Amino acid sequence: MNVAVFSSKPYDRRFLEAANREGGHRLTFLETRLSRETVALASGAEVVCPFVNDDLGPAVVEELAGLGVRLLALRSAGFNHVDLDAAERHGITVARVPAYSPHAVAEHTVALILTLNRKIHRAYNRVREGNFALDGLLGFDLYGKTAGVVGTGLIGQLVARILTGFSCTVLAYDPMPAQACRDMGVRYVALPDLLAASDVVTLHCPLTPATHHLIDGEALGRMKKGAMLVNTSRGAVIDTKAVIRGLKDGTIGSLGLDVYEEEADLFFEDLSGQYIQDDLFARLLTFPNVLITGHQAFFTEEALGAIASTTIGNITAFATTGRAVHEVRAEQHTRRA
Ligand code: NAD
Repeated sequence: MNVAVFSSKPYDRRFLEAANREGGHRLTFLETRLSRETVALASGAEVVCPFVNDDLGPAVVEELAGLGVRLLALRSAGFNHVDLDAAERHGITVARVPAYSPHAVAEHTVALILTLNRKIHRAYNRVREGNFALDGLLGFDLYGKTAGVVGTGLIGQLVARILTGFSCTVLAYDPMPAQACRDMGVRYVALPDLLAASDVVTLHCPLTPATHHLIDGEALGRMKKGAMLVNTSRGAVIDTKAVIRGLKDGTIGSLGLDVYEEEADLFFEDLSGQYIQDDLFARLLTFPNVLITGHQAFFTEEALGAIASTTIGNITAFATTGRAVHEVRAEQHTRRA
């Protein structure tokens, strides 16, 4: 099939071309993001292969349908950026990569927790400048602390498992609790109780209408004063303005982010020669106890290989049977909300 790969980087090309050796599809790699302005570049493609910050709102989906696109083969697990109702209306199938390497994201989450706690990001710079003073680098033992995991799907379960390895007490909140978590000693509680008891709160739920700004001013008010908050799920699960207030008044002791509400205009690009226009993001960067990575939690060899092979598998199945392997439907979205 003819496939237009939007938001593609050299690493996407490397892994997708390798996975496509057997698939035999014609891949066109486009560096640009998919938007109303660029949608015409999909002309001639039956399949569009977008990434997390591509615009798949109703207008773009309608235009894609008009161009003859029949499949959106997402290179992501999350599908909050796709208007599923519009896709269904226009007869476009949506497929995703439900699991590529949950380990990649779980391990990155724990890297953020450890780095923030022991201030490795600050120590790294200090030592390079010949400053070996320890003031400001005081951490705490994770051993015996309470960690709250919000969302115990594939990633949350792995984070819980790693944290139990540190002898943390792990609490969890998920409308659909997992027996595997209970079996490892995780205790499910209501979200307010999790927030009140946890020294570290880590978010692993999808972004849905129900989880949009799940961590707002009220939720922050329930947290243990000085607790750590980590978000590697989707930016808008956190209300950034409220979090900045929480950092300023000390409610939040430290913040680790791999995702940001308005990341579409920032992440995945080298903007080092430009001024950051987003004042909220710029404010976050001023806090010494905030650590931000640019949506890189998924970025391992294993994950990119799995994303590429599952994506090509979705396209090949669609070409041969009319059904992709991992389809996403509007009613599924409603259920998850
Ligand atoms: P998953 O579908 O396996 O698990 C999500 C869990 O969240 C499910 O158990 C679900 O019941 C739960 N959930 C749903 N609504 C909830 C709510 N209101 N409160 C608490 N829990 C709720 O997904 P996953 O593979 O574990 O991924 C989790 C999220 O991580 C994805 O949705 C995606 O947004 C994000 N993600 C980020 C990266 C990255 O690079 N930073 C990579 C992959 C996934």
